[in-house]
Amino acid sequence: MKVVDLRRDTITLPDERMREEAFCAVLGDSVYGEDPLQQELEQYAAQVLGKDAAIFLPSGTMGNLVALLTHARRGEEVILEESAHIRSSETGGAAAVAGLMLRGVRNLSGIPTADEVASAVRPEDIHYPRSSLICLETTHYRYGGIIPPLENMKEIWELAGRLHLAVHLDGARLWNAAVALGVEPSVIAGCADSVMASLSKGLGAPVGSVLAGSEPFIREACRYRKMLGGGMRQTGWLCACGLVALQPENIARLQVDHRNARMLAEGLSRIPGVRVETDRVQTNFVLADISESPYTAEDLVNKLAGLNVLATAAARSTIRFVTSREVDAEGIAAAVEGVRSI
Ligand SMILES: *Cc1c(COP(=O)(O)O)cnc(C)c1O
Repeated sequence: MKVVDLRRDTITLPDERMREEAFCAVLGDSVYGEDPLQQELEQYAAQVLGKDAAIFLPSGTMGNLVALLTHARRGEEVILEESAHIRSSETGGAAAVAGLMLRGVRNLSGIPTADEVASAVRPEDIHYPRSSLICLETTHYRYGGIIPPLENMKEIWELAGRLHLAVHLDGARLWNAAVALGVEPSVIAGCADSVMASLSKGLGAPVGSVLAGSEPFIREACRYRKMLGGGMRQTGWLCACGLVALQPENIARLQVDHRNARMLAEGLSRIPGVRVETDRVQTNFVLADISESPYTAEDLVNKLAGLNVLATAAARSTIRFVTSREVDAEGIAAAVEGVRSI
């Protein structure tokens, strides 16, 4: 029986076209600016994100860390939502490598208001760390792929301008947000000085992320990428895949994942003991609360695995399902049926 893998959207595999483009890639030493496809990808990513320049990096984690190193100095403070990926899921790199303080702002919806962000900014005082950067995240990973409204992002961007703070956007799934909002990726990226976006989540590229920003920002970011070991020589293999990943039709296909997530959410919410806040299913994630069932999330995930349906226990009573192009509508129906049968 076919396995329905709803654990992550990082499982997406390169399609035929990507494999062909990678196979035929003309290669060079990218550390010396001699890999034509890395240069093409970097220029194209900058254009799609509406920034002056961009760089290709091996991962989103490195992209975010490079952005932090470029924007802020040791001992300074970065303001971000309390459970932001940079704070919760990047191994403490901001502290360990960049020497930064991370000030989490708590908001039960996962999307702090501009006022809440403003109150976390430190006044000028010899006792306080200096606030230097605000980080935003779209879509929000811990909160089930929700999308901060553009209005909220613009207010924070304006606040940052008034206070002379920089804004970095962790846009690992910015593509999903753009498709769901029906706007160009550059509109969302326009609310930040720099933006990281993944090529390997949902879009099928095997490896890589891009970081975009102003010309001087990216020149400096290039040095940190090299420092962290992100200078990768013949990257054309990977960048060929990245270029296919960023084709408009490939990004637009994410709609299918969103539709499948909604179908899954609706199916699950009709099962007694399962609760889904369907209005918070905005992209390709579904968080199902099973606190009114006899099971813990771990129990249910284990039982589901026995039925060849894979999901993640995100908390004691919360199961996370992530749709991707590796799961079709039939798989979604099988997942709903699996939960119902248990
Ligand atoms: C996955 C992810 C990252 C990190 O990307 P990697 O390529 O896995 O290092 C950063 N931010 C968010 C929101 C993510 O989901």
